[in-house]
Amino acid sequence: MQRYDGDFLADLVAECHARGIRVIGGLYFDNATPVREHPDVKRVGRDGNPVKDRWGRFEACFNNPLARQHNLETVRHLLASYDLDGVILDDNFELDQQECFCDHCKAAFRAYCEERGAAYEDPAGTLSGPAAELWREHRREATRRLAAEVHSIAREHGVPAGGWVGASMGSMHLASVLDFLGGMVYTQPPRAARGPLLVLGERDFICLLWAPDADPARMEREVREAVHVGCAAVGFWIRGEDGGYEMDAERTAAMRRALGRVEQDWLDYYRRAIVGGDGRFAIVDGSVGPGELRLRLRNTGAPASRRFDGQIPEQFGPAH
Ligand SMILES: [Zn+2]
Repeated sequence: MQRYDGDFLADLVAECHARGIRVIGGLYFDNATPVREHPDVKRVGRDGNPVKDRWGRFEACFNNPLARQHNLETVRHLLASYDLDGVILDDNFELDQQECFCDHCKAAFRAYCEERGAAYEDPAGTLSGPAAELWREHRREATRRLAAEVHSIAREHGVPAGGWVGASMGSMHLASVLDFLGGMVYTQPPRAARGPLLVLGERDFICLLWAPDADPARMEREVREAVHVGCAAVGFWIRGEDGGYEMDAERTAAMRRALGRVEQDWLDYYRRAIVGGDGRFAIVDGSVGPGELRLRLRNTGAPASRRFDGQIPEQFGPAH
């Protein structure tokens, strides 16, 4: 047996790059360190007591400068130390998804209300309709600010920043501050991404499918579905949440088959249904030669009102 003294992440990235694979670093914001080092950064519930997660651990409030700086420092360190092709934030960066009633959050909400000339109400109380809406929008804005800080760090390193969100319209406000969004769409069919794509402008949507105990035939079907609706990348989650499922040979083979023909699937589908798929794309140019058809597609940044827009060979233009 040989002892390994290398830097595993650095070696993994190098091996991937040597094979033409790009690596996006995923980052789950760290609660444990800030809570250990600064006990008063804990996320606070409506009753004024610190909140625990489902494993009984305290969480940190990422509006608290100490918890925030710790995590932004981690992003800086990650991008400065490793040759990553991008970074993506994991589940817990959406501050609008988890309420906090700590002093920082309340003070920030008070300032938010004052800026808008609205009366401040304690968010821990029963909020009136307009105040509840303000509280929600305030938390969405706080999420955008946090994501924008990560985005600017990524930009300094010349790489894109994204975030894992649900494949629903509720998180699409983040398209204004991140380069791409990803849906862990194993709770919804991949075609759920079709709606969000239309409001993403020129941003990409990627999707993650579920593998551990999935029906292998369904795994293959879902990859095709994701490609057809317009996802820019498709991948699989390969472990159970608690490590309770392990990938077996049958599912590994299904994954290999499905991912191995993604490009061919994309081509086949777009040949057959050129105006289906991602509704933002329009065909802007095309030529027919002996044995070939070349089309140039452009992301118009909005649902394209004309899917054919330009010099299209007559044989392939829209039916009259
Ligand atoms: Zn807070």
